[in-house]
Amino acid sequence: MKQVPLFINGEWVSSKSTRVIDVTNPATQEVIAQVPCATADEMQQAITSAKETFKVWKDKPIMERARIMMRYAALLKEHQEEIAGIICEELGKTHEDAMGDVWRGIEVVEHAANIPSMMMGETVENVATSIDTYSYTQPLGVCVGITPFNFPAMIPLWMFPLSIACGNTFILKPSEQDPLCPTRLVELFEEAGAPKGVLQVVHGDKEQVDILLHEESVKAISFVGSVGVGQYIYKTGTDNMKRVQSFLGAKNHMVVMPDANKAAVINNIVGASVGAAGQRCMAISVAVFVGSAKEWIPEIKEKLASVRPGHYTDSEAAYGPQITPAAKDRIEALIETGKKEGANCVLDGSNFTVAGFPNGNWVGPTMFTDVTTEMEIYKQEIFGPVFLTMNVDTLDDAISLINSNPYGNGTSIFTSSGFAARKYQHEIEVGQVGINIPIPVPLPFFSFTGWKGSFAGDQHAYGKQAVKFYTETKTITARWYDDHADESADAGPNMSIALK
Ligand code: NAD
Repeated sequence: MKQVPLFINGEWVSSKSTRVIDVTNPATQEVIAQVPCATADEMQQAITSAKETFKVWKDKPIMERARIMMRYAALLKEHQEEIAGIICEELGKTHEDAMGDVWRGIEVVEHAANIPSMMMGETVENVATSIDTYSYTQPLGVCVGITPFNFPAMIPLWMFPLSIACGNTFILKPSEQDPLCPTRLVELFEEAGAPKGVLQVVHGDKEQVDILLHEESVKAISFVGSVGVGQYIYKTGTDNMKRVQSFLGAKNHMVVMPDANKAAVINNIVGASVGAAGQRCMAISVAVFVGSAKEWIPEIKEKLASVRPGHYTDSEAAYGPQITPAAKDRIEALIETGKKEGANCVLDGSNFTVAGFPNGNWVGPTMFTDVTTEMEIYKQEIFGPVFLTMNVDTLDDAISLINSNPYGNGTSIFTSSGFAARKYQHEIEVGQVGINIPIPVPLPFFSFTGWKGSFAGDQHAYGKQAVKFYTETKTITARWYDDHADESADAGPNMSIALK
């Protein structure tokens, strides 16, 4: 059985751990590899290498760091199909979806190649006579990334390229459910010329994460994953005086106004709700119909009923399987709960079968109408192809409903009214807002920031803002003498104190 290696101090090493986790093809249950839970000793080796390498890496010329990212982006493009193929195998995404996963990551690497302009400091001359103040942006040290299963290319690439371009060293702990894609990403990073030790890859679960959370030399932790785990990582990391950003779960709403383009609403809802098997933190899981827009619900149901999951080799498949049998069971249990709670299940994807793949974790498209806020299916992030609808009378009612939800990752409004769109973007308490766009994920030169329960930490994210997360600003105030200056001259009311 193929064992996923660790990457420590620039070497791919086979772990000595006896605790391993199976990596399974979710369409067949075939075990395709085993991922080891790194031993305490191996974790320490990774930490030591990251710590030692930082001493040298932080002083490497900034263009040398940037050029690695340029080469890396080119290599990733060359290997995009191959990486997407790995994602299809271990996560079951459709080919198109897997290609998108890699592409969104490549865009972050391209962005990281612009690191010099993003690390520029500030300068003001003559804050007092002959005294200038200027700031530098400096790397923090050892940074850590803990990533989820649902975007095994994009999310690791949100993290290590920018952090390393800033001059940090990085320890990546990818999801144990699909570690083969991150492994390939790191091989290509090495091929792009990344020096030994700037990036380490360790595998495991809570035990390995806990070592990183308590390690003194770790300065910053980026986490993306579920709410409970992310809150634990945020609390434990900050208790240990680390900088932490935790991107958490979601429940994203789309508001449908009666003046919206009906065909656009129907087409977009299908892809945004059940696409990627609903395993997207930006999936639209609830549509809120304002007034007469609810009359479109039957047509939406018809359209949803026409899509089906399938194997990635089937070009007609709209989406793939759920990641594990346990995830499928949980989704089906929630569907049952929704029925018991009185929601109207107009489309039930439980017990779905796909010809030729009897063991896949399939859940068909599922739709509930007449959902209310007290229902468990509304309160929980289902993370499956389950779409809920709710009806309200006015846009104000829709805004108040959504603002009462504990999450705030993404939202969208479909309308032809500029007034309604402007009001919505202004009043809604959600981090990413789409106007006639169902899944408004910004490109890396903007920040990606969930609000409320979808994020814990300072407002830093994967794009330009992430540079602030991975760096510290050093501000210098300097007095410049010349041979003729009167050295006893007053430096100015504030400066004289500072400079004494
Ligand atoms: P998860 O929380 O189960 O796992 C994420 C990572 O945490 C993995 O590397 C895992 O090994 C580790 N982990 C798991 N349990 C742990 C524990 N007890 N202690 C320490 N570490 C632990 O998440 P997942 O199921 O892989 O991903 C799906 C979740 O991620 C969804 O909730 C989704 O909304 C969220 N997500 C959020 C965003 C965002 O940007 N907000 C993006 C993608 C996914």
